[in-house]
Amino acid sequence: MLAAALLLGLCATASADDILFENVRIFDGKGAALSAPSNVLVQGNLIARISTSPIAAERAQRIAGNGRTLMPGLIDAHWHAMLIASTPAEAMGDIGFANLAAGDEATDTLMRGFTTVRDVGGPAFGLKRAIDQGIIAGPRIYPSGAMITVTSGHGDFRQLSDLPRTIGGLFTPMERNGGSIVVDSPDEVRLRAREQFMQGAALLKLTAGGGVSSPHSPLDVTTFTEPELRAAVEIAENWGTYVAAHAFTSDAIRKAIAAGVKCIEHGFLMDEATAKLIAEKDIWLSLQPLPELMRTGLQEGSVERAKADEVWPGIGRTYELAKKYKIKTAWGTDVLFSRALAKQQGAILASLVRWYTPAEALVMATGTNAELLALSGLRNPYPGKLGVIEEGALADVLLVEGNPLENLDLVADPADNFRIIMKDGLIYKNTLTQ
Ligand SMILES: [Zn+2]
Repeated sequence: MLAAALLLGLCATASADDILFENVRIFDGKGAALSAPSNVLVQGNLIARISTSPIAAERAQRIAGNGRTLMPGLIDAHWHAMLIASTPAEAMGDIGFANLAAGDEATDTLMRGFTTVRDVGGPAFGLKRAIDQGIIAGPRIYPSGAMITVTSGHGDFRQLSDLPRTIGGLFTPMERNGGSIVVDSPDEVRLRAREQFMQGAALLKLTAGGGVSSPHSPLDVTTFTEPELRAAVEIAENWGTYVAAHAFTSDAIRKAIAAGVKCIEHGFLMDEATAKLIAEKDIWLSLQPLPELMRTGLQEGSVERAKADEVWPGIGRTYELAKKYKIKTAWGTDVLFSRALAKQQGAILASLVRWYTPAEALVMATGTNAELLALSGLRNPYPGKLGVIEEGALADVLLVEGNPLENLDLVADPADNFRIIMKDGLIYKNTLTQ
């Protein structure tokens, strides 16, 4: 109510908490050019006014932009907040340590200018709550909860010695911690899907085909049956949200789409006809320009390395297909078990210049990714507009030294170039005052 009143200009007196950015040039998360020099008033957690004329806000904290760029906070659409600062063994075995390490990494993530992440697998509910309550600094999190997989699917990290599984039997550590969970029937899918929503999931993540990092999951295998996928889609729709499916091959993608999945993760082994289908059905494609380092970091001669060698050539091809058929394309990084690589989050975004202009890349990582976030519908944990600089939007903004539309590499060095980082109207970093 109060926010609405402020937006309508009914309340003329700015509160002491208001922040006025003066003389900034705006990248709004949608267009290809910067605005004329402008002023932006943040009231509470919202962008209240934008004007090229002076904004009267006597008691507001004034920030002299001096012609710097004001842009929306960055969004990573494929992130695993709980699976970066821990080793796999720690993530599976010591949830206390994993949460503390993830909290520290979450602060680093925010300090890289990422004000929101879409978390597609991992027990991030507690971390999210601690961030939302202001206990630790970190990005907004759209969590899927556990990756839901089938026996021998991607995300089934069990050893052969863990077999056979008894339905209703004991859980493995990975399942107990909520990193991933194994299901083998529509009934089990429904149970585990509902458990994720009970904990606050904003979407469901299923693994519809094989994956690189899972030891017993060949790339060519389509892992879920259609009835199993449909069961997940039905539960997600009952909860007012959607299913995202990890899928590389055309077959896995087509089965997922037929079952009602709304977002395909990766898709790097798809054929052209499948790209066309994705475009026709208006399905989201969540892509990641996975760096070479991720591939070469895998041990030569290992099963994982052989699979990576097969997937990597598909990355560029898939980006070309996404462009050719104008597929709704989200951007993310999929960093796993490496804080060193997480530091490259901005550099991985900048690497999109292989296929896109800097403006196209930045629109993808802000306004477009925010459209995908909004697909969470009734389960959207942060209702309101993200990824854009416009009146009424949530105040997640970066003040950038220089113009990233001319030089996208600026986002690869957030420590120097992001002078102010604001999330939800609060300033978490300000080096203008130093
Ligand atoms: Zn992933």
